[in-house]
Amino acid sequence: MNVLVYIDLQLGRPRKNAAELLTYAHKMAAGGAVTALVLGPCSEDLVQLGDFGAQRVLHLSAPELASFDGLVYGKLLAEAVAFSQSDALLLAFDHSGKAIAPVAAAKLKAGLVAGAVGLPQGNLFPVKAFSGKALAKVRVLTAQWIIALTPNSIPAERNSCPAAVEAWTPTSIPVSKIQVIAKHKNDSDIPLPEAERVVSGGRGLKGPENWGLIEELAHELGAATACSRPVSDIGWRPHHEHVGQTGITIRPNLYIAAGISGAIQHLAGVNSSKTIVVINSDAEAPFFKAADYGVVGDAFEVLPKLTQAIKKFKAEQA
Ligand SMILES: Cc1cc2nc3c(=O)[nH]c(=O)nc-3n(C[C@H](O)[C@H](O)[C@H](O)COP(=O)(O)OP(=O)(O)OC[C@H]3O[C@@H](n4cnc5c(N)ncnc54)[C@H](O)[C@@H]3O)c2cc1C
Repeated sequence: MNVLVYIDLQLGRPRKNAAELLTYAHKMAAGGAVTALVLGPCSEDLVQLGDFGAQRVLHLSAPELASFDGLVYGKLLAEAVAFSQSDALLLAFDHSGKAIAPVAAAKLKAGLVAGAVGLPQGNLFPVKAFSGKALAKVRVLTAQWIIALTPNSIPAERNSCPAAVEAWTPTSIPVSKIQVIAKHKNDSDIPLPEAERVVSGGRGLKGPENWGLIEELAHELGAATACSRPVSDIGWRPHHEHVGQTGITIRPNLYIAAGISGAIQHLAGVNSSKTIVVINSDAEAPFFKAADYGVVGDAFEVLPKLTQAIKKFKAEQA
C-alpha cells in the first residue's frame, strides 16, 4: 500500500517523531510508496527524511501556513492523499495530529484509528482503551485509512533511500477562520511530549517554592519536568506540564514521580513509560503498583540525595 506521512515542524525543523512515523509507514507500506508531506517554512534539508524510508517528500511553504489551523491543514492533507495516490495517511496522535486527523477523515470519508500503539495485522490496529487499562483492536473498513500513531509506540529504524524533494502546490489553500492574537513560547529546553526522561511532582511537594528539588534532579538527568493535574490547577506549575488523562500523554524511557498518589487519571498519561520510579511517603500509595522501582520516603529527603548521587556518578564518569 502507499502511505502519506504528515511530518510536523517545530521551529522550522521536523519533529523528533518524524523518524518513528516514517519507520511505521515503511513497515505498513510493505514495499509500497512512502511519501512525506511537510507544511510550512523549513530550515533543514528535507532529503534527510529518506534516512527513515521516505521516497518522496512534498513540501508546501506558504505565508498562509504561518499559524497552525487544524481545519486548513486537514483539508490540505486530504488533497495530498489524493495527489500522492496514497491508501493511508499516517500522522502523530499529538496536539496537531488530533486537530488534523478528524478533518482529513471527514474530507476523505475514511476510517480513523485514533491512537494506534503498534503496527497493524492486516486492517486491525491496536489502541489503548479505558485510560490505558485495556488494549482494543480496531478494524478499518474503508478503502482509505487514517492512522494517528501514539508517540513512542515503536522504535525508529533506519531505512535509507534517496528521497526526492518536490515543492507541492495544492489547488488552493483554505482561508483560516482563526486569528492568532499572541504566542507565548514555552521556555523549557526539552519539550515534554518528546522527552526521554521526565521528573514529575505532585501535591506531596507542598508548594511551588519546593519545585527546585524537581528541577535540580531534572537538570542533572537532562530531563523535562512534569506535574499532576491539581498542581497545575492550583497554579504551582504551568498547564503545559500537566500529564494524564486530561493532560499530555508521555512515553519516556524514565518517569520519576515524587509526591504523586498515582490516581488512574494520572496513570493514563504516564503508564506506558519504559521505567517508572515512584517516591512517596505512603507505602500504600497506588502508584507503587505501577512502579518498576519505588522509594517509600519523604520526597524532601530522597530527591536531594538522588540528585547528589547522580552528580557524584557523573563526576566519576568524567
Ligand atoms: C475527570 C478527571 C480527570 C483527571 N485528569 C487528571 C490528569 O490528567 N492528571 C492528573 O494527574 N490527575 C487527574 N485527575 C485528578 C486525579 O484523580 C488525582 O486527584 C490527582 O492525580 C492527584 O494528584 P496528586 O497525586 O498530585 O495529589 P494527591 O492525591 O493529593 O497525592 C499526593 C501524594 O503525595 C504523597 N506525599 C505527601 N507528602 C509527601 C512527601 N513529603 N514525600 C513523598 N510523598 C508525599 C501522598 O502520600 C500522596 O500519595 C483527574 C480527575 C478527574 C475526575
